[in-house]
Amino acid sequence: MRTSEQREVSALVLFLTLTLILNNSRIKNLQSSVHFMESFLAKIKSVYVSMGLGQFNSTHLYFMVGTTLGVFLIEMLFTGWDKCALKRVFQFEKTTRTDLTFWLLETFNFYNIIAVTISFGICYYLVGVIQKNFAINLMVKVENQLLAFALIYIISDFKNYVRHYIFHRSNTLWQLHQLHHSATDLNILARQRGHFLEAEISRFFDVIPLILLGAPVYTYFAIKVVSEAHQMLVHSSLTSGWGFLGKYIIVSPAAHRIHHSIDEKHYNKNLGSTFIFWDRLFKTYHPDVPVYEIGIPENPYNRKGYVHDIFLSMYLFYKNLVIKILPRKWSQKLFVKNFPKTTIFDEV
Ligand SMILES: [Zn+2]
Ligand SMILES: [Zn+2]
Repeated sequence: MRTSEQREVSALVLFLTLTLILNNSRIKNLQSSVHFMESFLAKIKSVYVSMGLGQFNSTHLYFMVGTTLGVFLIEMLFTGWDKCALKRVFQFEKTTRTDLTFWLLETFNFYNIIAVTISFGICYYLVGVIQKNFAINLMVKVENQLLAFALIYIISDFKNYVRHYIFHRSNTLWQLHQLHHSATDLNILARQRGHFLEAEISRFFDVIPLILLGAPVYTYFAIKVVSEAHQMLVHSSLTSGWGFLGKYIIVSPAAHRIHHSIDEKHYNKNLGSTFIFWDRLFKTYHPDVPVYEIGIPENPYNRKGYVHDIFLSMYLFYKNLVIKILPRKWSQKLFVKNFPKTTIFDEV
């Protein structure tokens, strides 16, 4: 690892340590369990509260703003002002505007509400029922918190790898995930660009570690701090491979850049979230090479704004689903009738 790369990793570790130490009491004071149904009600409440109907729950806001600013700073230290994400936010290009919108929705607690509404609460409800009835809580007996943190992190990260793999390999699910890949410029905020329905379907994966291991909320919050900061950094302007660490252990900015590359040779590669060894293990690893273009081929996104892009992905997703489920004659009829060539979906 080069000296500058060592400094990058050290800055990230220092930032994460400081964040965890500073938030220690806040994390410890959180309730003792995570439950989808409970947090759903809390989120609904927080929307009303944020509209001035009560006291605003600020933990998530602090977390998002603090982490984003911290990672902006780390990136700026190593790339300089000209290449940093913050400068591009001010340039306000269409692709960055979409990222910024998703970031604002997430930061102000609206993302989940929209996601649940768009999916009619079906995933949320089912996952709540599953968690309530099938919890095994294996981790209850592990008293060493550091060990609990490490085990839950590794198992959650494997779950993320499998989920990501499936969203790439299933043609129907790819229609949703491609919204994340439609960013033509990697910047820290692109981390938040993700379809609401993808987030909802992901709940079925996210609940697995909760059922298996139990849900000490402070451990999940600590994991979220670390994984979120790391995810923002791998979506930044940094292009370093982080030497041995990036080759065998942790996903580096260079590795994730390859994941976003438009080059066919890089499709479905480097699918890991935090750990790259899953890619090594399941043969989806691609070594560091320069990436010249980010995005998806014949990209129909980033032209008419984020609302269009969200509906475009949803349309493609449902279309794909219906075509798979219904007899060909019916699905053709349905789509030709409801989406004639003159609609906004022309370009697809
Ligand atoms: Zn992907
Ligand atoms: Zn990404």
